[in-house]
Amino acid sequence: MEEIERATDVILDGGVVLLPTDTVFGLSANVFDDRAVEKIYTLKNRDRKKPLPVLVADYTDLLKLVETPSRVEGRLIEAFWPGPLTIVLKKLEGASSAAFSGLSTVAVRMPDSDLVRNLIREVGTPLATTSANLAGEPAGLKLAEITPEIKENVDFILDDNEKHLDIASTIVQVVDGEVKILREGAISREEIIKKSRE
Ligand code: AMP
Ligand code: MG
Repeated sequence: MEEIERATDVILDGGVVLLPTDTVFGLSANVFDDRAVEKIYTLKNRDRKKPLPVLVADYTDLLKLVETPSRVEGRLIEAFWPGPLTIVLKKLEGASSAAFSGLSTVAVRMPDSDLVRNLIREVGTPLATTSANLAGEPAGLKLAEITPEIKENVDFILDDNEKHLDIASTIVQVVDGEVKILREGAISREEIIKKSRE
């Protein structure tokens, strides 16, 4: 069986997959499966009050989670997706997940990775995905650097042996038309501001 099919089965079965994204290694689960999301929190020893970002494969996925982006948000999405931009958007009233920590926003990203986007399409739902490190430790850049404790406890490990950015995404949120940089990562503040005005 192909690796991606096995990863799909594991996620549909409520499991957590360790996988390479286009930025750093991630831990992924079906965003709409609260028990699976809970496993990610336990694996990382992460505070439940800290929401998990969500990866989408396309715009149909995006609109399962959040309201239609504003003009400024749309510009940023168009400029940087698929790629290392995570954008915090207003959650759809009806969308619910343990990954949202009770907030009315969701941090979303479309990764520049065929592997991850194909997996999302196979699974059929967006994937709650966070960096594959224990809380407070640096993000894992190579499979060999991921804490053994995490590798031993995930339900499946996908690897593509490809080169990645090795730097986390930049996280932004547009508040009252103004772009706030919540975390500067692979994309610089200047690039974000420039594209938000084009
Ligand atoms: P990580 O979990 O290490 O991949 O990093 C993701 C970052 O996104 C964390 O710092 C989260 O706190 C942040 N994040 C996730 N969801 C939201 C949200 N709805 N609003 C603001 N920040 C978020
Ligand atoms: Mg992290």
